[in-house]
Amino acid sequence: CGIIGCVGRDDTLDTLIHGLSKLEYRGYDSAGIALAGNGALHIRKRAGELDRLRESIDGEDGLSGTIGIGHTRWSTHGPPTDHNAHPHADCTGTVAVVHNGIIENYQALKDELEAAGHTFESDTDTEVVPHLVEAELAAGAAPGEAFRAAIDRLDGSFAISCVLDDSDSVFVARNDSPLVLGLGDDETYLASDVPAFRAFTDQVVYLADGEFAELRPDGWRVIDASGEPIEKSVETIQWDA
Ligand code: GLU
Repeated sequence: CGIIGCVGRDDTLDTLIHGLSKLEYRGYDSAGIALAGNGALHIRKRAGELDRLRESIDGEDGLSGTIGIGHTRWSTHGPPTDHNAHPHADCTGTVAVVHNGIIENYQALKDELEAAGHTFESDTDTEVVPHLVEAELAAGAAPGEAFRAAIDRLDGSFAISCVLDDSDSVFVARNDSPLVLGLGDDETYLASDVPAFRAFTDQVVYLADGEFAELRPDGWRVIDASGEPIEKSVETIQWDA
């Protein structure tokens, strides 16, 4: 299982599929991607091999975006079906989330969200996250703030990434699951492991538990739960992909 994301490339879809293929060694039962930007959000996902996802989107027109996230799933909550594959979206289809790990308190959150009128499409623990972000946005929070407030509600282990249809940022959070950023000249990456983007850069920043990151076309930052910047060191990877 693994996650990948990129900001600032023209070939977002190919970059995500390449990254997911490099994470195959971690094991998975489903794969999916979300492309965002210019007010649109496209999600494509399939149970089974990465090739099933590839075949399902092969030749599809208009599947573009300047930012994107991808996921290989190793099911913990809900069987490996197309519906349970990540990314997961909110009710409005404007928030997409990928997640590795387990959200221990998802049932209490799901009950609360359903009581507030949210409807769920999967059996996963993960799907509470886009709905929590949606609720925060509806209450007036800015995107980054909405993401951090949603993550603050979670107990468990996670590497999570989130995109919105109308924001050019990718939001990232980590607790007890691996997550690393890759820094290119004009583009930025996130992944569970360096091989996912090693073909494009050797400059990396490892996130620690409790840290958040925001990746934008014009830069990146690591922040804490209250949005305060955290100074991080950039490391150079010494091996080739
Ligand atoms: N718990 C999530 C699920 O079952 C994520 C599993 C994973 O780490 O891939 O969908």
